Amino acid sequence: MTDYVRETHREFLKASRAAVADRGLQQILGRLGDTLGRKNREAWQALPNSDAIRERARSIKDATLADLATHLATLENSVVARGGQVYYADDGAAACQIICQLVKERGFQRVVKSKSMTSEEIHLNAALEQAGIETVETDFGEYIIQVAGHRPSHIVGPALHLSARDVARILSPVAGETLPVEREALAAFARRQLRSKFAAAEVGITGVNFAIAETGSIVLVSNEGNARLTTALPRIHIAVMGIEKVIPRFQDLAWFLKVLARAATGQKLSVYTSIITGPRAAGELDGPDEFHLVILDNGRSKILGSPLRESLFCIRCGACLNACPIYRNVGGHAYGGVYSGPIGAVLTPLYDGLAEHHHLPHASSLCGACQAACPVKIQIPQMLIQLREQLHEETPNDSRGESRAYRLWAAVLRRPWLYRWSSWWATRTVGRWFRRQPWIRRLPAGLAGWTEHRDFPAPAPLRFRDWWRRNSREQP
Ligand code: SF4
Repeated sequence: MTDYVRETHREFLKASRAAVADRGLQQILGRLGDTLGRKNREAWQALPNSDAIRERARSIKDATLADLATHLATLENSVVARGGQVYYADDGAAACQIICQLVKERGFQRVVKSKSMTSEEIHLNAALEQAGIETVETDFGEYIIQVAGHRPSHIVGPALHLSARDVARILSPVAGETLPVEREALAAFARRQLRSKFAAAEVGITGVNFAIAETGSIVLVSNEGNARLTTALPRIHIAVMGIEKVIPRFQDLAWFLKVLARAATGQKLSVYTSIITGPRAAGELDGPDEFHLVILDNGRSKILGSPLRESLFCIRCGACLNACPIYRNVGGHAYGGVYSGPIGAVLTPLYDGLAEHHHLPHASSLCGACQAACPVKIQIPQMLIQLREQLHEETPNDSRGESRAYRLWAAVLRRPWLYRWSSWWATRTVGRWFRRQPWIRRLPAGLAGWTEHRDFPAPAPLRFRDWWRRNSREQP
């Protein structure tokens, strides 16, 4: 383990401990499982044939990725045929450069954005601001964290880590007065604030939930009206998407719309589903003069041919976060990347480097709750194990004590006589010592992490094989 890797690992543990000790955050995270997690489970139960529908959505993703180049080419042709422009970006820096150039070469200076995890992934706001372009997030949660200078803490609820009191404290300096903590009042303030930004913006930037190859349409799913204003009022609309967002046909969309909102918030359908095809056409009353679609790779094509390709099935609903016992204890910021939770533990190492995010594949109990909640049944636990194996091959663990312990363990397991003898010996010596109390409060150094937040059960007085022998004699 390099010093840098050790440091990131320490940072993760430090951030996790701070999150666990933060009572306000713990209350918010506790409610998350009781609300969104429960709604997600109820939504699947209420949807007839939900399992078959999820399988169908999954199989569409699988088939699309198998012929991705063809579908992207079809998408490009369709967008161009409807008057739009398409750009391919190998990485985040290239995507930011394309977008900044589109804005600057027209002499524009004001941008409004609707929520987009892809734009977070490429750090677009920082690039726009560095280019001297005023950028305003218009999703309420995104607006709050932009003012606060935070990273999103949840895929669908970026400001989920903040209470109404926190939001009032963050927005009051912008308002120039002390705002009340009532949610309606805070939302009304943001609405007033953003209205003038929409009216003045020359450019609207959005993400893409799905891009339909056969029609060249992009689909935006949201619960606030901001995406519609972002795409309708400014002179140009720039959409940024990962290569995996393409779906072949219009009819495929229905399968994803059936599962996306149910998984994200338990709604049957989000409040707004906007299907946008090119710029304003002749005879249309509103819409932008220009439409530009930036298609981002950023390491995705490498993942495509790897055992981790299922990570590209993700439709960013956030259900795996709501179900995950780790996320529900440490929240989103401890993960250290833009994507958090179980899918973040897969995506962040893949997009930003495994060595830099060495700790994330281990930030899971592998309980499988994420896979059960996922609308496209992504096998997240298997991918985390795969990443752990990859990590071990790339950066073998240089902790001599741990390596020796595993070698000894393997040697014992390979020899049944030695296993029998050592378990007999351990039960009579170390086991007896630990059995002085029913629960062990503190394990010795090296294992002490286990008992930092919970007790450990004392070992049984009998080995299982002795118990079995005795009981099978008593009950023939
Ligand atoms: S992995 Fe599945 S559950 Fe998690 S965000 Fe992606 S689609 Fe949703």
